[in-house]
Amino acid sequence: MNGIIDLRSDTVTRPTPEMYEAMARAPLGDDVLGDDPTVRELEELAAHKTGKDAAVFVPSGTMSNQIAIACHCQRGDALIAEQESHILFYEVGGPAIHAGAITWTLPSDRGVMDPEEIARRVTSATIHTPGTRLLCLENTHNRAGGTIIPLERMREYRAVADRFGLKVHLDGARVFNAAVALSVDVREITRWVDTVSVCLSKGLRAPVGSVLCGPADFIDRARLWRKRMGGGMRQAGILAACGILSLTRYVDRLAEDHANARRLAEGLAELPGFEVDLETVQTNIVQVGLPGEAAIWQARLHAEGVWCLPTGPRRIRLVTHADVTKSDVDRALAIFRQLAG
Ligand SMILES: *Cc1c(COP(=O)(O)O)cnc(C)c1O
Repeated sequence: MNGIIDLRSDTVTRPTPEMYEAMARAPLGDDVLGDDPTVRELEELAAHKTGKDAAVFVPSGTMSNQIAIACHCQRGDALIAEQESHILFYEVGGPAIHAGAITWTLPSDRGVMDPEEIARRVTSATIHTPGTRLLCLENTHNRAGGTIIPLERMREYRAVADRFGLKVHLDGARVFNAAVALSVDVREITRWVDTVSVCLSKGLRAPVGSVLCGPADFIDRARLWRKRMGGGMRQAGILAACGILSLTRYVDRLAEDHANARRLAEGLAELPGFEVDLETVQTNIVQVGLPGEAAIWQARLHAEGVWCLPTGPRRIRLVTHADVTKSDVDRALAIFRQLAG
């Protein structure tokens, strides 16, 4: 990309040559009418990989989460979510709009909530209080810096949920990053949740799309909500063909992104005035505290060909992905050093 190092997000990856070939070859149908064979193949693959009965292909991770919430909650029900979770922070009030759900928000330690605090937050349906139906998790946690929920915690969340009869939805936009970083099959994470949404369009390199996975009857209802939200797509096999490659060919290489993020974080942590909590750099995201205003740093970096996104008044986010190499990381570090100098 003309020497530009785009660290804004792992969503910026471009389709690979083999993705373009797969798009050209994919057998197509009309997925709203239920007969696109490539979409069917992707959905079966996604269900199998996550250990769920069924899956539905949706245009975005946001829609996937919103469909899940709408299927799990009735109007006036409550859900519990971490206070900086994507569902609360970046989905424009979706739970209130689509599901009519109210949200109980909890703090966390680097994206990991305390199971006992969850237990204390659950309300039962009475004439006064909304019934809490759903626990939402995020693994890896975006705003916390790509942090992983330990497997033991996942088990504890399940136990709390079962104690109170809650369903558990995992915003697993980057759940494969977590699995690769932990060196476990992704099912070791997804086995503790009822439903999971997975982004194909982030580190997994597809141009568009997410999959929502869960029990068969839940996915039937999710198809209805997808149509209601305007997310039914016709010859969607063109996109699903890329998603199949995401899940079969591009999972293991996420380890390279993690190594590059680590290299970037360690280099930045040494610069005067820069703050990086290396404990949070567990996958492919680096949150960086700056010695000045984020907007100014963003502009100065942009002028040098390093693109980033502000995530606070004095904070930017850098995300590694397949289109950023180790030498790009070194080049970016040299530019940071020069600007910090
Ligand atoms: C990106 C992201 C989403 C939503 O994905 P879109 O496809 O951009 O709508 C959901 N959750 C998390 C944690 C994300 O990082």
